[in-house]
Amino acid sequence: MDCIAMYIDGQWVESDSGNVTDIVNPANGRVIAQATRGTAADVDNAVAAAKRAFAPGSAWRTLTADDRAALMVKAADLIEARAEKLAVAETNSMGRVYRETRYDDVYAASGAFRYYASLVHELQGKASAENGDMMTVTVREPLGVCAVIAPWNYSMGTTAAGMAPALAAGNPVVVKPSSLAPVATAMMFEALAEAGFPAGSVNLVLGSGGEVGSALAAHPDVAKITFTGGTETGRDIIGRSATSVKRYSMELGGKSPFIMFDDADLDVAVDRLMFGIFLSQGQVCIAGSRLLVQQGVAERVLDMLKERVPKIRIGMPLDPDTEFGPMVSKRHMERVLDYIRLGVEEGARILIGGHRIAEGAFGEGYFVEPTVLVDCTQDMRVVQEEIFGPVLTVQTFADEEEAIRLANGTRYGLAGGVFTSDLGRALRVCSGVNTGIMWANAYLEDTAGMAVSPHRQSGMSVDGGLDGLLEYTVLKQINLKMTPAKSGWFAGME
Ligand code: NAD
Repeated sequence: MDCIAMYIDGQWVESDSGNVTDIVNPANGRVIAQATRGTAADVDNAVAAAKRAFAPGSAWRTLTADDRAALMVKAADLIEARAEKLAVAETNSMGRVYRETRYDDVYAASGAFRYYASLVHELQGKASAENGDMMTVTVREPLGVCAVIAPWNYSMGTTAAGMAPALAAGNPVVVKPSSLAPVATAMMFEALAEAGFPAGSVNLVLGSGGEVGSALAAHPDVAKITFTGGTETGRDIIGRSATSVKRYSMELGGKSPFIMFDDADLDVAVDRLMFGIFLSQGQVCIAGSRLLVQQGVAERVLDMLKERVPKIRIGMPLDPDTEFGPMVSKRHMERVLDYIRLGVEEGARILIGGHRIAEGAFGEGYFVEPTVLVDCTQDMRVVQEEIFGPVLTVQTFADEEEAIRLANGTRYGLAGGVFTSDLGRALRVCSGVNTGIMWANAYLEDTAGMAVSPHRQSGMSVDGGLDGLLEYTVLKQINLKMTPAKSGWFAGME
């Protein structure tokens, strides 16, 4: 059976621990590969290699911006050349359906390298000569060793979104994928190795969050942590790493409101709602998991969901026609089912779904029905907490003020959507809802190159665009005196 190795200092290596993690296909429960299970010692080696790569005069530090861009474009080409292999690997190990991994994830990853390669010349500072004989300039310098700790969902995209701006700015990187999702990430590293990144500039460590992730996060030689994952984990990482004062990009959890007014085009709104909550089986940070629907149209919208949700094509994720696959793991499936049970105990009613799918071949995998819970109230845990599965909670509201209040009534601030034919109201709601992304009359659609920042406990970062690149740099002020001159401050120095 394949054993996935780590990539440290330009070499593929297995951990001295001798331990491995089984990689399970969640569509059928079978072990499809194994990954070496790293330790804190492996993290030390990877960070030391990255630190050497950052030293003045190293092969990485002496690359010009054009050289870095060329490497990144080559990496993007090589990722795309592996598109089919990457998509199949990700689908088999994560259960994410092929039509998503093949046509979205791979290009999200290659696109991040390509996009940030195009910005390498934008790392400019400012200059001022207002003090006569002195020229003051600010320059943008790389930070140093950047750690990228990635989640299992959308693993290629989130990993590349952290790596690409870090590398474009000249930083070496150490990546730690989720122990559930190392397969496609390791293949991406094959592309980076083939592209010719100098030893130590790109490193991959594998293992558990508790051992390898926390050792990386707390490492004193790591200058920045780019973490994408749950809010509790993010909080833990900030706490553990506080002693060495690092920079953070934290992309954390969400519980995004999807607001539907009675003047909305309901046909489009329900289509987008289903896309927003059932894509990737709801395992999407910006999933529109809370429907807030205006009282007058609530019954009609629920009838539309009852008619349309059962038509979702649930199937084996590798089948190109499958629209909806399994949960990522048995443990995650059980967590999602526990939340559905909890919702019912709290007083919610199951309108659609609500169960594990166990008939025939589905019984070997970890499938949960697309689920809609009605009669939900704001205080319920199913409304407040991120379930990260195909579970939509439904609440009604009377007017715009109440819709905004309910939308803002959780600790999260990642994303949200509003559907209305009144553009003035759309803008008021987009401004009033305290999230990093708002969509009006759309959901899960964006424009490449535009930056985004999570609000409240959904994190702290600037992701995307030039603003996202600058997050991987530190400003330096340089003062150049044209003619050496004494200060004249202390007497007797003339
Ligand atoms: P997670 O927090 O359990 O794990 C994320 C990563 O952190 C993994 O690599 C894990 O091994 C590592 N980790 C775990 N404990 C650690 C510790 N103590 N120290 C250092 N690293 C540790 O999240 P997950 O279950 O992999 O992913 C799902 C979560 O990610 C959801 O909450 C989802 O909303 C969030 N997410 C957010 C975004 C975003 O852009 N905001 C994108 C994707 C996923």
